[in-house]
Amino acid sequence: MHYYAVVCSQQSIYYAPLANVETEKMDALQNQILKLKEEKNAVILGHNYQRKEVQEISDFLGDSFGLSVQASKTEASVIVFCGVDFMAESAKILNPEKMVLHPNLKSKCPMAGMVDVKSLRELKAEHPGAPVVSYVNTSADVKAETDICCTSANAVKIVQSLPDEKIIFVPDTNLGLYIQRFVKDKEMIFWPGYCPTHMNIKKDDLVKLRTEHPGAEILVHPECTPEIIDYADYAFSTEGIIRHIQASAKNEFIIGTESNMLHRLRRESPGKVFYEVPNATCPNMREISLEDVRDSLTRIQYKIELPTDIIRKARVPLERMIKAGR
Ligand code: SF4
Repeated sequence: MHYYAVVCSQQSIYYAPLANVETEKMDALQNQILKLKEEKNAVILGHNYQRKEVQEISDFLGDSFGLSVQASKTEASVIVFCGVDFMAESAKILNPEKMVLHPNLKSKCPMAGMVDVKSLRELKAEHPGAPVVSYVNTSADVKAETDICCTSANAVKIVQSLPDEKIIFVPDTNLGLYIQRFVKDKEMIFWPGYCPTHMNIKKDDLVKLRTEHPGAEILVHPECTPEIIDYADYAFSTEGIIRHIQASAKNEFIIGTESNMLHRLRRESPGKVFYEVPNATCPNMREISLEDVRDSLTRIQYKIELPTDIIRKARVPLERMIKAGR
């Protein structure tokens, strides 16, 4: 430990490890949030990529699919969504009568921002009759132009289930290419979107980690490039990664997805060893702090508001996605 804070008592000045001071501050904040949550009859939904301390105060942790399901059946009056913008919007679409709070409006998914309604309508006009399958990482108004949503957990199953020969898939090309490996009988029209965080996962880093840990299995997310998916042992959604690890006889894993995911893995599989891939932290997911969650509950901010007709239209593809299951 390298840094120390000065703490004054009545008689003397002594030095305490800063880490302990930080831990105490964090504990106090977490307790304050848990109390506020009870008072407001709120539920906190946290994505697997949230900071460790935010994961710890979440009532439900999960991937986009799991959290959408939780959002659709919660009995709480207020939903505090600790994830990026489109996730909080999805919670509002599924619960229009409830208050949905997004603790930090800067927490936006850049991939979701890569597709807009005007360009999507133009693409639809070029391919009349082709249904639009939108990754759940899209804005509410793009969902309103969509036939069915999917997450990485059920994308293959959903595209396979459609009777159409041609599918428009937005916005993640890498996920689209991953689906196409399993769905050879359909033409898929891709959008040039991508996740900057998963694009940062490089083969050289995986090769190095595999050399250092030859017994470890490499698990990656389908938002990674085809080169990374080819090199890995398996590609799964984040919940798929968790389930695979829990069922596996293996003890060591190299995790090729957003690095905050490792907190959950270490907590839920304490006997196993996990290695982090460099440069895989999503700065947008990290925006939400404990202070933001506390302020969100104290000041009732920031309320997600969406036009009624967008909610009505966007709800259809989201409910189809939930009905399809994992
Ligand atoms: S990890 Fe990628 S897809 Fe997820 S929020 Fe960050 S940028 Fe968006």
